[in-house]
Amino acid sequence: MTGYALPIKRLIEELSKFPGIGEKTATRLALHILHASDENAAMLAESILDVKRKIHLCPVCFHLTESDKCDVCSDPSRDGQSICVVEEPDTLIAIEESGSFRGTYHVLHGALAPLDGIGPDHLKLKELLDRIVANHIKEIIIATNPNVQGEATALLIAKMLKGMDVKISRIACGVPMGGDLKYTDRMTLAKSLEYRRIV
Ligand SMILES: [Zn+2]
Repeated sequence: MTGYALPIKRLIEELSKFPGIGEKTATRLALHILHASDENAAMLAESILDVKRKIHLCPVCFHLTESDKCDVCSDPSRDGQSICVVEEPDTLIAIEESGSFRGTYHVLHGALAPLDGIGPDHLKLKELLDRIVANHIKEIIIATNPNVQGEATALLIAKMLKGMDVKISRIACGVPMGGDLKYTDRMTLAKSLEYRRIV
């Protein structure tokens, strides 16, 4: 980025901090912003400030929300006795879009990754336990990601809730609909056999 005037360099530097954005892409984005209308540039800056000012975590489930409680927690038609535990808000949104779940959620904001220094205290686990006890929750569905960290987190939650009067299940992992078994990776195939159900 040598040769660019200081304000452009600064913008490139800031944009390079985004995940998956290298210096080349950051430069392209910066030049795009430079050529945008004043109005569009202001809208972008304003929208960035807006998410920082207006968005906070729902005090019940820790989903991102603009209002006091999130939309799911404030909806009286949702089954408050059933909690689906997810790692991040994007999973919650994906499940909501599938329209297949009428309970509530709990967002952990991460998964166990001891090598990266992420232990149980970094996740909203104590809050989950408190919520289960305080509200006599009957069912927990663990929808952490099907990878090493997600599995470790699921195991920890199951251990944490052992002996409590709550039904615990783990989402099934397996072959995608419309998929072809011979092209499915071995790990997915192994898990889909492990989590098979009676038909
Ligand atoms: Zn909520």
